[in-house]
Amino acid sequence: MSSFAEPSPLLLSVLAGVAESLRPLTGPAVNVQSVSPTETVLAPGWGEPSGQPPAFLVQADVDGQDFAFHVHEGGSAAEQSWRCAQALMDAAQEAVGSTPYPPCPGHRHPMTVERDGERVYWCCPGAPRVPVAPITQGF
Ligand SMILES: [Zn+2]
Repeated sequence: MSSFAEPSPLLLSVLAGVAESLRPLTGPAVNVQSVSPTETVLAPGWGEPSGQPPAFLVQADVDGQDFAFHVHEGGSAAEQSWRCAQALMDAAQEAVGSTPYPPCPGHRHPMTVERDGERVYWCCPGAPRVPVAPITQGF
């Protein structure tokens, strides 16, 4: 029995939404290249391996730099958006090096991702309740 699965439409739309949310910002855009099933699961707290949701390796690029990160299925669109944005942000920041990514308008630090119910958004770490750029719908 193969444990590999195709990514769900929800996961793909979440990834596209996270990448799209970065386009209006001043930093370079992220392009998602591929989403491949993987056995590697980086999901602490999900318990035994047999109970873990399907995981995927996302290959992407930002500003000409390739990078990759892991995502997994499970949870609501907001939960997936929050997880994917965090994973993408960490990997993209590493890829772009010392330039803060995604850049926080007017500041020298990267933005952070916050979640308020079903709303997930980029914001300044100094003002976590003020959405700067939406990631999910519903703003
Ligand atoms: Zn800031």
